[in-house]
Amino acid sequence: MALGTATRATAASLPNSLWAATAAPGPETPPLTAEVAADLCIVGGGFTGLSAALHAAQAGARAVVLEAAEPGWGASGRNGGQVIPGLKLEPDEIEARFGPELGGRMIAAAGAAPDLVFELIERHGIDCAARRTGWIQAAHAASGLRLVEDRVAQWSRRGAAVEPLDRAAVAELTGAAGYVGGLLDRRGGNIQPLSYARGLARAALDAGAAVHGGSPAIAVVKSTKGWRVVTPEGAVESEQLLLCTNGYSDRLWPGLARSVLPLQSYQAATRPLSDNLRRSILPGGQACSDTRRLLAYFRLDAEGRLVVGGRGRAEESDDPADYRHVTESLARLFPQVAAPEWQYFWGGRVALTADHLPHLHEPAPGVLAGLGYNGRGVAMATLMGKLLAERAAGAPVGDLPFPVTGIRPLPLHGLRRPMIAFTVAWKRMLDGWETWQR
Ligand SMILES: Cc1cc2nc3c(=O)[nH]c(=O)nc-3n(C[C@H](O)[C@H](O)[C@H](O)COP(=O)(O)OP(=O)(O)OC[C@H]3O[C@@H](n4cnc5c(N)ncnc54)[C@H](O)[C@@H]3O)c2cc1C
Repeated sequence: MALGTATRATAASLPNSLWAATAAPGPETPPLTAEVAADLCIVGGGFTGLSAALHAAQAGARAVVLEAAEPGWGASGRNGGQVIPGLKLEPDEIEARFGPELGGRMIAAAGAAPDLVFELIERHGIDCAARRTGWIQAAHAASGLRLVEDRVAQWSRRGAAVEPLDRAAVAELTGAAGYVGGLLDRRGGNIQPLSYARGLARAALDAGAAVHGGSPAIAVVKSTKGWRVVTPEGAVESEQLLLCTNGYSDRLWPGLARSVLPLQSYQAATRPLSDNLRRSILPGGQACSDTRRLLAYFRLDAEGRLVVGGRGRAEESDDPADYRHVTESLARLFPQVAAPEWQYFWGGRVALTADHLPHLHEPAPGVLAGLGYNGRGVAMATLMGKLLAERAAGAPVGDLPFPVTGIRPLPLHGLRRPMIAFTVAWKRMLDGWETWQR
């Protein structure tokens, strides 16, 4: 009997995003059309699944990736490409919650996650406009300033290259108006995310993994060898099953989709800015996110387009009218871009967790899931994929830098739409109030 079933449409096309228009071509990843045996069947071809496939194949395992659309189709090919070190929670809070040993390992692993991204890019020659120029967190008001000051102090105590920025330094580094201070974390940077996902897929294939696009996993059945995962035209029989579907999780595995809150984040990109504007806007090429509850984030792409992101509607949309909050952010932050010429509008699903931490689940023997990066998955999902591969190869739970837990569906998940709408309105009001007071 099938444990879970899903009804994903096959081969949905990429959104009309900046990244889809400018990405390096991906490798051939034809649909699965046979019954195959493997050590690991990996469902989901984003950073998590592709990094898991690469690391498992490098360690000699037979890994098969099943991706409903194409590698990088989900959040991995749509995000801001900001390589952000650390977790949402402050290091001291993580240590208080998990103790010095596990907490210390979590902090060290999350802080070093950008190293893994940039090392993989270099080792596998991934052509993705990678720049390790640092990540700026800009404070929108006094509350944000306290947050970044705490963060600088806590990371500095742990030897990380994180430095405080005063109001003038943020203005000089970003060219943005209105920030009252911030931090520069030199461990971070930015990439072209779809090119990175495609590069990981190519590296996984080169290491011996199989990667199948257009291959939604539509049923999982317990079998004598382990697990049998069924697609429309084939099946994978494997000892281990890795669920790497994050904000796009469906009903394939019971409760997984309900363990995260999927929110839409929207982005818009201008046409390349003039040389004059580029002299003042992010001249050092950093990526920047701010401390608002509904954060604004921005960066330049390789051709000098200004890419701005923020919270979107509940549904996906490519109607420019739905991107008002994003275009208003640009007008507020960069009044010097007097009449921006918008070129692309797109969005994707961010997966939030109740404790603001990524989750590594082991819901049944031989089954692992990694998800819930809370908008910080470029580095964290890459790391999680590696950890899933290590756990699947037998790494003891006690050696991992994250707790291994069962899946816990969020209460009232069915009411998420009205609850999200209320929370967004409330946060927007608080952000507006604090910004007005500064
Ligand atoms: C607009 C936006 C901006 C963001 N900006 C940043 C940022 O700047 N920095 C940062 O660190 N993080 C950012 N994030 C978060 C980051 O993109 C994600 O955390 C990360 O990409 C998650 O990777 P993943 O592989 O786990 O999931 P995904 O990339 O979402 O991949 C999941 C895949 O699973 C597939 N799938 C689902 N069900 C099935 C099935 N049954 N069978 C087969 N395949 C299936 C989907 O098709 C999808 O391709 C952003 C996210 C969004 C949406």
